[in-house]
Amino acid sequence: MRDGREDRESRIAPVRSLLPSSLRHFVTSSPMLSFCVLGSGSAGNSTLVALGGNGRARYVLIDSGLSPRATARRLGPLGVRPAEIGDIVLTHLDRDHVHPGWISAVRRHCLAVHVHQRHRNAALRVGLPAACLRAFGSVFCLGEGTEIETTLLGHDQLGSVGLVLEHAGLRLGFATDLGRVPETLLERLVGLHALAIESNYDRPMQTASDRPAALKRRIMGGLGHLSNEQSLAAVLRVAEQGDLGHIALLHLSRQCNDPRLVRTLYARHAPHLLSRLTLSSQDRPTPWLHLRRPERIPRMAVAAGRQLNFLEMLPAVS
Ligand SMILES: [Zn+2]
Repeated sequence: MRDGREDRESRIAPVRSLLPSSLRHFVTSSPMLSFCVLGSGSAGNSTLVALGGNGRARYVLIDSGLSPRATARRLGPLGVRPAEIGDIVLTHLDRDHVHPGWISAVRRHCLAVHVHQRHRNAALRVGLPAACLRAFGSVFCLGEGTEIETTLLGHDQLGSVGLVLEHAGLRLGFATDLGRVPETLLERLVGLHALAIESNYDRPMQTASDRPAALKRRIMGGLGHLSNEQSLAAVLRVAEQGDLGHIALLHLSRQCNDPRLVRTLYARHAPHLLSRLTLSSQDRPTPWLHLRRPERIPRMAVAAGRQLNFLEMLPAVS
């Protein structure tokens, strides 16, 4: 699929350069919202989000569960410097989502750490400085042009927070560490262009594992994590109501999951989504995943295109 996009990009570029400047932005494919899962799993979760394109992106971390050093190592190949991170949004305060190394980094660099108001006290308890905390409710603004809607989810005592991040008309849904998928979350996950959601365990592997019974109950009991089947059921619902260009699966258990099983599940029950699937890993970042609207070219641009006789170079107009 990425090959197809690159191909489309190379076809669009010459067209864009021939258009009058007032029309160029209609035929732009510069990504305005992109994300990269730097790492995901019980040893640390962190996702980088880029807001804006054309070399003027702002960078935000969703969760900071990798150490600052490991985060910097994974940012390097993406061309992002740690100093460019301005905000951290936390889904919850578990250690695999907030590495203790970030406490002093946050203080030193005056990073804004956004936490749900229900998690504010827990954030203070882990040592995050009050001056850097920004407590949010059901919706908040993350700088100019970026809005985040939130949904409280069942996970252990304090729960976690599902997010829908909207920027430049593009919508990214994000949900990890949830024991079940409530209707309130599905009601929020509409019109998405990408979804990152956990797919934590394969039920037979979890059941057969030598983990203590209490741990299995915690994970599978509705306040722990999503199984592959639960996650897929949610993805299918969301895919019906949006234009999902990317599905990134998060927090795969090393002990009780296997990427091959996940792909087989999709091949069997959602083959139409397989090409949009990215499985995150604990050990290495995913590629950049760019959110895009389906190309829609206004009549004025089409007319200009016809005049200059290069319409055949354009991708299909949807
Ligand atoms: Zn976790």
